[in-house]
Amino acid sequence: MHLKTLTLKGFKSFADTTTLELEPGVTVVVGPNGSGKSNIVDAVAWVLGAQGPRTVRSGKMEDVIFAGTAKRAALGRAEVELTIDNTSGMLPIDLAEVSISRTLFRNGDSEYAINGVPCRLLDVQELLSDSGVGRQQHVIVGQGMLDSVLNARPEDRRAIVEEAAGVLKYRKRKEKAERRLEATEGNLLRLSDLLREVRRQLRPLERQAEAPPRRARRRADRHPLARRRARAGDVATAHGVGRAVARPARVR
Ligand code: ATP
Repeated sequence: MHLKTLTLKGFKSFADTTTLELEPGVTVVVGPNGSGKSNIVDAVAWVLGAQGPRTVRSGKMEDVIFAGTAKRAALGRAEVELTIDNTSGMLPIDLAEVSISRTLFRNGDSEYAINGVPCRLLDVQELLSDSGVGRQQHVIVGQGMLDSVLNARPEDRRAIVEEAAGVLKYRKRKEKAERRLEATEGNLLRLSDLLREVRRQLRPLERQAEAPPRRARRRADRHPLARRRARAGDVATAHGVGRAVARPARVR
């Protein structure tokens, strides 16, 4: 990935707007001790979304704002803009150049923008995630960091290599998917318990629901009116039988 320009304004020791044109072939920044070389590296890490103040060698994030000198007053905001050459299409955006900028105000407000369009930190992280420039900034190895990389535990070193290779993103996604699967399995288990319980309660309810009509029928059969009707029905049947017997006699 080729970084084309870096503009710093109010970031650490860079009170004035300073633009560094990083022509192809620029491989090193030289300067006396304390002249701000590491501040340039900090600016790159910061604009790419560095979160912990320690990642930019500060106690608190506000410390990246120019704090003032004997001759110059402190500033109220720090701004960094990084332009990346994207002719190789490494970043998933259909543009030959991508500018990412970050601004921090003393009250803690911060802003991000991609090609001048305000966006969220997440958008910057997603834009960079496929390029190997991950959240943990392992592609930027600061002073003394090489030691900690070499002395890291095997699993930590593996995470560094995985992030640089772009594998970490998929491992994180897999872990997330596994956690969701586990939660879903738990939910399913709870659901089947609930179903079993509801079915258990349903059986006696069904029996109760069937019972009243039977009882009501029995009660209705015992009612005097019903008995009278039943008797009347018997008589009608007897008459019907009588007529049926009498009719053939009349024909004859
Ligand atoms: P070395 O070669 O010793 O590592 P360097 O060139 O990398 O030094 P940096 O560490 O980048 O230097 O810069 C340190 C300087 O930046 C110090 O003079 C420090 O006072 C200044 N500085 C850091 N933060 C701020 C700030 N918020 N406001 C003003 N100056 C700052």
